[in-house]
Amino acid sequence: MTVASEVTLHRPVKTARAEGPWSVEAVQALLDMPFMDLVHQAQTVHRQHFPEGDIELATLLSVKTGGCPENCGYCPQSAEFDTGVKAQKLMEVDEVLRAAKAAQDAGATRFCMGAAWRAPKDRDVEKVAALIEAVKGLGMQTCATLGMLEPHQAQALKSAGLDYYNHNLDTAPEYYTDVVQTRQYQDRLDTLAAVRAAGINVCCGGIVGMGEQPVHRAGLIAQLANLDPYPESVPINSLVRVPGTPLADSEPVDPFEFVRMIAVARITMPKARVRLSAGRQQLGEAVQALCFMAGANSIFYGDKLLVTGNPDVEADVQLLRKLGLQARRTQQVEEPCA
Ligand code: SF4
Repeated sequence: MTVASEVTLHRPVKTARAEGPWSVEAVQALLDMPFMDLVHQAQTVHRQHFPEGDIELATLLSVKTGGCPENCGYCPQSAEFDTGVKAQKLMEVDEVLRAAKAAQDAGATRFCMGAAWRAPKDRDVEKVAALIEAVKGLGMQTCATLGMLEPHQAQALKSAGLDYYNHNLDTAPEYYTDVVQTRQYQDRLDTLAAVRAAGINVCCGGIVGMGEQPVHRAGLIAQLANLDPYPESVPINSLVRVPGTPLADSEPVDPFEFVRMIAVARITMPKARVRLSAGRQQLGEAVQALCFMAGANSIFYGDKLLVTGNPDVEADVQLLRKLGLQARRTQQVEEPCA
C-alpha cells in the first residue's frame, strides 16, 4: 500500500467565487482549503499582481498617546483600562519630522501617524494637517489614523497631502460588540466612506486572536473585500495580549490560521498591499516567511508599534536579506484598487 493511497496529498484547488460580492461562505471555503493549496493559490495571485515582489516598509509613530475614551478590548491606550500607558499630548512638528526622517533614512517609504482619539476636533485636524505637510515635504507617503472623521475633516486632511487613512474594521460585524461597546460598526463604515469620498486611499484591516470564531474571520475578510473599491492597504494583525486589557487572556492564534488569513486577504483583494502588522514579534522568522509566501507584501518597520513592541530594524533587514526579498524603494503612491 502506498502512502498516497492512505493520505490525499493533492486535493483539487478550489476556485474563487463567481462574480459578485464575496459571501462569508465563499471566504470560509478558501480559509478551509488544504494549507499548501491555499498558499500556492495565494502566491499565484500575488505574482500576477505584484511581479516585482517587493516588500513595503511602513513606520508607525504614536503622535498622541493614550487617554482614549473608546473601549476597544485589545487596546492599551483606552482610558478605561489600567495598562500603564501614560497619556501624552500631540507631538510637535519638529519631533515628528525627526522621527519621519529617521524612518526614511532606515528605508521606510510610508510614515503613519497614530493619535488615540475617538474622533478629532477640527482644531486637532488642523494640527495633524501641519504634521502631514511636514512629512510629505520629505517625499514620504503619509498615512494617519485619528479615529472617526467627518467628511469635511477628511477633505482637510486630503488638502494637507494625506495619501492614506487607516481605520480598521477589526472583526466581523457579528462579533464587533464583543470587542468594542463605545461605537457601532456602521460608524467605521461611515468614516471609511468619508475618506474615500475625499479621495484618500484606504488602509483597513483587522485583528485575529480576539476570541472570534472562524466564521467571524471569514466575515471580516468578506467585509473588507466587498468595500467598493476594496482597501489599498490591508493590515492583518495578530492580537498582542497586553496585560490590563479585557482581551489579555485570549487564546493565542495558531500560526497556520494566521497565515491562512494572509493568504485569503491576498486572494480576495489581489491588488492590495497586505500588511503583516501587530503581533509579528511573536511569529518568528519561519512563520513570517510563510506569510510572505502567502502574499503579505508590507510590514510595519521600526522597533515600536504605537505602544507595543515590534521586531527591530536590523532583524527585519536580516530577514529580508535571508529570504532574498527587496524593500520597496519608490515613494510613489500605488494606483487605487479597482
Ligand atoms: S484602538 Fe484607537 S479608538 Fe480604540 S481605544 Fe485604542 S486608541 Fe482608542
